[in-house]
Amino acid sequence: MATKYVYFFGNGKAEGKTEMKNLLGGKGANLAEMTNIGLPVPPGFSITTEVCTYYYANKRKYPKSLEKEVLTALAKVERVMGAKFGDPKNPLLVSIRSGARASMPGMMDTILNLGLNDQTVVGVINKTNNERFAYDSYRRFVQMYGDVVLGLKPVSKDDIDPFEVIIDEKKRERNVKLDTELNAADLKDLVGRFKRAIKEKTGHEFPEDPRTQMWGAIGAVFGSWMNERAIAYRKLYDIPESWGTAVNVQTMVFGNMGDDSGTGVAFTRDAATGRNVFYGEYLMNAQGEDVVAGIRTPLPISKLAQDDPAIYKQLEKIRSTLEKHYRDMMDIEFTIQKGKLFMLQCRVGKRTAFASIKIAVDMVGEKLIGDAEALKRIEPDQLNQLLRPIFDLSEKANAVKSGRLLAKGLNAGPGAATGRVVFNAADAEAWAKRGEKVILTRIETSPEDIKGMDAAEGILTARGGMTSHAALVARQMGKVCVAGCGELDISYSSHTMSVKGQTLKEGDWISLDGTTGEVIAGKINTKPSEVLQVLIDKTLDPKSAPVYQEFARIMQWADKFRSLKIRTNADQPDQASNAVAFGAEGIGLCRTEHMFFGEGKIGPMREMILADTLDQRKKALSKLLPLQRKDFAGIFEAMNGRPVTIRTIDPPLHEFLPHEEKEQRQLASQMGISFEKVKQRVESLHEFNPMLGFRGCRLGIVYPEITEMQARAIFEAAAETKKKGINVEPEVMIPLVGNVKELEHQEKLVREVATQVMKEQGVTFKYLVGTMIEVPRGAVTADEIAKVAEFFSFGTNDLTQTALGVSRDDAATFLKPYVEKEIYAKDPFEVLDRGGVGSLMKIAVEKGRATNPGLKVGICGEHGGEPSSVEFCHMIGLNYVSCSPFRVPIARLAAARAALAYPRKDSKPKAAPGKKRRKK
Ligand code: PEP
Ligand code: MG
Repeated sequence: MATKYVYFFGNGKAEGKTEMKNLLGGKGANLAEMTNIGLPVPPGFSITTEVCTYYYANKRKYPKSLEKEVLTALAKVERVMGAKFGDPKNPLLVSIRSGARASMPGMMDTILNLGLNDQTVVGVINKTNNERFAYDSYRRFVQMYGDVVLGLKPVSKDDIDPFEVIIDEKKRERNVKLDTELNAADLKDLVGRFKRAIKEKTGHEFPEDPRTQMWGAIGAVFGSWMNERAIAYRKLYDIPESWGTAVNVQTMVFGNMGDDSGTGVAFTRDAATGRNVFYGEYLMNAQGEDVVAGIRTPLPISKLAQDDPAIYKQLEKIRSTLEKHYRDMMDIEFTIQKGKLFMLQCRVGKRTAFASIKIAVDMVGEKLIGDAEALKRIEPDQLNQLLRPIFDLSEKANAVKSGRLLAKGLNAGPGAATGRVVFNAADAEAWAKRGEKVILTRIETSPEDIKGMDAAEGILTARGGMTSHAALVARQMGKVCVAGCGELDISYSSHTMSVKGQTLKEGDWISLDGTTGEVIAGKINTKPSEVLQVLIDKTLDPKSAPVYQEFARIMQWADKFRSLKIRTNADQPDQASNAVAFGAEGIGLCRTEHMFFGEGKIGPMREMILADTLDQRKKALSKLLPLQRKDFAGIFEAMNGRPVTIRTIDPPLHEFLPHEEKEQRQLASQMGISFEKVKQRVESLHEFNPMLGFRGCRLGIVYPEITEMQARAIFEAAAETKKKGINVEPEVMIPLVGNVKELEHQEKLVREVATQVMKEQGVTFKYLVGTMIEVPRGAVTADEIAKVAEFFSFGTNDLTQTALGVSRDDAATFLKPYVEKEIYAKDPFEVLDRGGVGSLMKIAVEKGRATNPGLKVGICGEHGGEPSSVEFCHMIGLNYVSCSPFRVPIARLAAARAALAYPRKDSKPKAAPGKKRRKK
């Protein structure tokens, strides 16, 4: 069968439908659908996107059968309208508009009032009895056609539109100010002047024949698919060029035919808040462009109930018909022509994250959609809007508008924070203690800065990527963080920061938008999150927290569908409790080294590092033992029987020593040793590439007494907790293993200590010993490693840097251009690189389970809380993902969406959407 290129709609019947969006474009498909469901749509036809593709593949020629199909469809329109294209007595006028699959607002061309010429304009005058209206429509048409089809445009960007020049000339001659003051004769004269200008400047005669006009306009609209604007827009939104646009030819209706006419745009619900109210604007006696142009102020749609109650009622009914039909919030355009309503467009409405969540939840309540559908409609990251403090939006917009945007870095910790700049952790603590809100601003952070980070509202760094220390610790704490903001020139010595010619000093206010990465000068008020007030601060009753209730329902639905378990990365009891409140089912990574900076521990830790002999080291470790034991006991209690994976020490030891002379001297005198000795030790531990140096299991192998102490602290805490009647499930995890022998060595130590402690304490408890998979050798020899390991946890922060050969801490300088050049689609430290790192993970899962079928596998790198990475983890069969506490809800939703998109064998039985299934 020959390809069909033209689809008619009108008189209650259409050849197309919504599902044919790819062929008819969004606009054409929905015009057809609205026609089919009985809404008043002016008749017309859509020329398919395939014609556009053909047009570009064949030197801008059309398929042979097109002309005949267009003329047949046009004749149908004429029959429905009882008017004829080009008939001087009873002319049909049409609009010609683009309509791609994805909405590309304003990027392509439109021509209105087509079919007018010196004869048909008389017919319009006679039909409407309105000469001014007829000539105004005519001059608008010639103007649009002259611009879009014949190319009379401003030559340079500083030129004024040549048509506007002629209109201004006319107004001067007539001594009037406004277009509306020009009368019919003036407008008729303008038509003549426009035509002459077109001829003079472009050499083209304005076509009087409506069919020539139509083909010219169709060609121009297809041509606009390749204009600069459209190309740029497609690049920005990843719209493939091959999609092409459709062209819609539709009967004109006029909103400017008098006070019984008008035009408007509306959303079936409030697109900003999601409230279930009809929301929109309209203008009487106006055309669509008047509403958009902002010359006249449109009125709120509710006012139409007074202006024209019958039309308002009809619109309300259409609103409900559309929502029931599309089961979504719709965005509509309508025109009232002489008291009759016409629908010109409908599409799924764009909305804020808040609205998206509210509408999805409400629609489940209204039985328009099922819970699974609601989950598909909410992007996991949108939940941040419910979880985090946010800026007062208008205040932020004003700040940006007035030039206060200083720079943009990586959006490492979402949320909004405002505070005064301080440049070191000690000041952050001191200022916060006296009640100041501070933003800790550092070139980069290190474990030494932990307390200052905790005291700050937000953290800003000039260096470091999405898995840098600042980024991952901030996320774990739930702090706002903008990292790797390379434009900042920070001077610690003068306590200043310069950016774009401005210098900010200590104490100046700045604001961080951790969701977008923006750094803004000055203070911007923030709004606390309802969910946090209920779950974490416990200052709000859930019953009086509607946003919390929405959140809770989404989480309940997510848990019903997901296969992945969700754990958290936490190393303090308060972080663990927060995560449990957010729904964490265990701890997937407790970084023990973070504990060493807590109260009283850094001293003995440094003693241990500076020890010369095994005895000295053991003495220092014995001081650390009770302190670590206390930490672990706190965590076990907070987790109340849930599994807890504790990693033995990982970072290189120099990170625990002071780097500045003043502090080194202090440490020397505290320990009664010489300053030179401290300095020499720091220097000897210094590494050029600490990320791959003397760290991870290498420390525990060279200093087994450290692992022994840590294992003892873990198991003694487990025994203590068990004795209190609280169940415990410790999982000891060895980091940076690349060779099974490393794991064998550490495993043996850990198991010996476990046996000893159980004997000493007279209790038994279950425990596991496993490993992180975070170097490529570990992944490819996973079959050997899995014979020893009881679980694997992917450390994808390190696995990314080792697989890609890119250091996670100083990659920010070139990763940004890499992403811009699409070498990596996304920052691989943020979104898992499926092709590279992902392949290694897949190999490790398959090989690991081949020798140890019961092997539990999870992920604890920062990717564990990133939706696309969570999806991948689901797809390759992981048992759990572990992420920072505040990302637990995001991971829960992402896991559910992954399970809906890619059901696994272990998927739970699913409820069918809607109420049907529930009734059974
Ligand atoms: C990792 O490498 O992914 C990991 C979780 O460990 P860390 O970030 O502490 O190196
Ligand atoms: Mg690691």
